[in-house]
Amino acid sequence: MLENNLKTVLEEISGGNNLGEKITLVGASKTMSAQDINRAIELGLTVVAENKVQEFREKTELISDKATQHFIGHLQTNKVKYLVGKVSLIQSVDSLRLAEEIDKTAFRRGVIQDILIEVNVGGELSKSGFDFSNAKENVLAINNGFKNVRVKGLMAMLPHVDDQNLIISLCQKMRALYDELKNMGLNFEYLSMGMSNDYKIAVKNGSNMIRLGRTIFGERNYGGNNGNI
Ligand SMILES: *Cc1c(COP(=O)(O)O)cnc(C)c1O
Repeated sequence: MLENNLKTVLEEISGGNNLGEKITLVGASKTMSAQDINRAIELGLTVVAENKVQEFREKTELISDKATQHFIGHLQTNKVKYLVGKVSLIQSVDSLRLAEEIDKTAFRRGVIQDILIEVNVGGELSKSGFDFSNAKENVLAINNGFKNVRVKGLMAMLPHVDDQNLIISLCQKMRALYDELKNMGLNFEYLSMGMSNDYKIAVKNGSNMIRLGRTIFGERNYGGNNGNI
């Protein structure tokens, strides 16, 4: 099942997004065992990501170094020390304070930490991320103010709604912001947008990085053993 799932997605995205850009597939591996994650890596997955620091710490040493590791979940400042220099991309920077803490830690460790800025494009109370209305000024503040982080682009969580036109318009809004900032000279490469429910729409509307969990690994079983693979 894992093999077919992965093959299908890799084939689907092999032609790139609507702008002809290469699409990076990130495996969202929460609740999956290191063994299952490594099987996916053997089958061609090149980036894996956790959304909880605790789970990242439990698995990180067990993951094959053929893949790079990202962090995609809400991050508290007191846990930054567990990630800086250990993941190649922190996708979920959602406050100035968090960016500042990542920058300070990176400085102390003598590294430059690549990050994405998370934007709450749907304006949902349940989600973190900068408000769309002030995202641009915050991206510029982080990009210009902190020398030990490198802002590589934007990340968005799209709302879970049936209204496809709404999803399309939010994707286009994110892409327009991404292009505006990129054209100002920022070192942008990634617009991380699209999960299992909405990645097909996202890659037709400017996303070049998708984060898939269930589409690759099957349904999650929070009760422990997952019988999907
Ligand atoms: C779990 C998760 C995903 C993937 O979700 P699926 O619906 O399983 O594809 C993507 N992004 C984040 C931040 C996640 O926590």
